[in-house]
Amino acid sequence: SYTLVTDSITMDNGKRLPVCKVLLHFNTTKDEQVLVKVGVSAVDIAGARKNVESEIPGWDFDKVRKNARSAWNQYLSKIDITKDDKTIFYTALYHTAISPNLFTDADGRYLGMDLEVHQGDTINPLYTVFSLWDTFRALHPLMTIIDPDLNNQFINSLIKKHQEGGIYPMWDLGSNYTGTMIGYHAVPVIVDAYMKGYRNFDAKEAYKASLRAAEYDTTGIKCPALVLPHLMPKAKYYKNAIGYIPCDRENESVAKALEYAYDDWCIYKLAKELKRPKKEINLFAKRAMNYKNLFDKESKLMRGRNEDGTFQSPFNPLKWGDAFTEGNSWHYTWSVFHDPQGLIDLMGGKDSFVMMLDSVFAVPPLFDDSYYGQVIHEIREMQIMNMGNYAHGNQPIQHMIYLYNYAGQPWKAQYWVRDVMNKMYTPTPDGYCGDEDNGQTSAWYVFSALGFYPVAPGTTQYVLGAPLFKKATLHFENGKNLVINAPENSDKNIYIESMSFNGVNYTKNYLDHNELLKGGVLDIKMGDKPNLNRGVNPEDFPYSFSVDEKKK
Ligand code: CA
Repeated sequence: SYTLVTDSITMDNGKRLPVCKVLLHFNTTKDEQVLVKVGVSAVDIAGARKNVESEIPGWDFDKVRKNARSAWNQYLSKIDITKDDKTIFYTALYHTAISPNLFTDADGRYLGMDLEVHQGDTINPLYTVFSLWDTFRALHPLMTIIDPDLNNQFINSLIKKHQEGGIYPMWDLGSNYTGTMIGYHAVPVIVDAYMKGYRNFDAKEAYKASLRAAEYDTTGIKCPALVLPHLMPKAKYYKNAIGYIPCDRENESVAKALEYAYDDWCIYKLAKELKRPKKEINLFAKRAMNYKNLFDKESKLMRGRNEDGTFQSPFNPLKWGDAFTEGNSWHYTWSVFHDPQGLIDLMGGKDSFVMMLDSVFAVPPLFDDSYYGQVIHEIREMQIMNMGNYAHGNQPIQHMIYLYNYAGQPWKAQYWVRDVMNKMYTPTPDGYCGDEDNGQTSAWYVFSALGFYPVAPGTTQYVLGAPLFKKATLHFENGKNLVINAPENSDKNIYIESMSFNGVNYTKNYLDHNELLKGGVLDIKMGDKPNLNRGVNPEDFPYSFSVDEKKK
């Protein structure tokens, strides 16, 4: 027999939400064990039953356990590391495989973004739970290394969601549009894969959908009326009409404008690849530079701007929210993923840029929470971690440390990356320094432990940090292997003295995806002092839009 319990819980904001649970009663004798199988479907009960029957046909508990263990081992063995304690690394790698989740039933049916049941197939299944604001940064780029085919399936899901719901999801939850977070970061996920040569999807359709997401147009989107202004904010109208989003018209205006500029740069990249008309390419090249409109020369920080063009006043760079999303100006000023050199120029050159980067750690963990009216957990985590205003517990700043490479001081990136890996990831129940967020904060660790990070998804480059291990081996789907050797690595030897790739001296501050995927050996000589001569030449710096596209 069973008991159905309907109840409600109180949310942080005082609202009550209905919850439902079921209690199953078994008339067992003492020490008798019960085997239970659970099927889940978003379609119907018949779908749930078929799912469990096809995935777990018998009642062999040990076999189910063994299969699960072997499936996880297969995923986790894509990267081998040598280290006494592997717990943190493989915990992180484990987290990168949890979502997006398979959403197509065993019979091929699924719930679409229009909330209708569709007949699809299990060869090209649909996935859900796309935390794109987080995962465009490192989780999806990591997938291009360890499982590009699965990443392609994610992309096909995103395109289907556009077709069935009217637009790319911003944060898709069980085939529901949510108004959560900002940006149209399905675009960088797709363009990143395309630029790396993974093109098992309809690129023209993806491009069309990307154009749709970049325009202000509320028609034909199948989402609740309450969600629509968040999913399709008027911010998109402003960024296209005047090049920024007025802070007296829209909330989170600077965060939106900066991330839109990057997304538009991704559209520019794809437009060029697809040989779109010059006019269209130029339009998105221009929009990619919209970040400049929010730079305040006086504070050297990104700052809200009113509709009349004046900067927001008063301005407190330590104020969370308002013109920013779960962060402050110190966190978002760096959200120029595609053009760090442009940001360096705005700040008055490399020295000034490095000083501003240093300041993030030097400014005490003070904050202004008046916009939220309470200390949100992201603020609390910054305080606990006590690395100045560096707030690794939330995603916007997670690429920041790597920016030292664009200013010719890679050893500072090497220093801080190691410090963050040591302090903010521990093998304890509170081992993450904030919301892990669907694989993103873990993907940061996996990349950083290997010694590089995708600052600008949409390029094929990974910007250098320094590896954590004496040896790591990546096993690619194409059958090739990459060995990363750093035999002198230790708690003291955290700096790159020199490196070579397949026996040839390597001087660049970045690695190229397509070169890595050919396999081979990366030999990295580590030392306890920064090599102040390595990584200082601008020709070895990573991609910046305003430098690299001018050459052509
Ligand atoms: Ca977060």
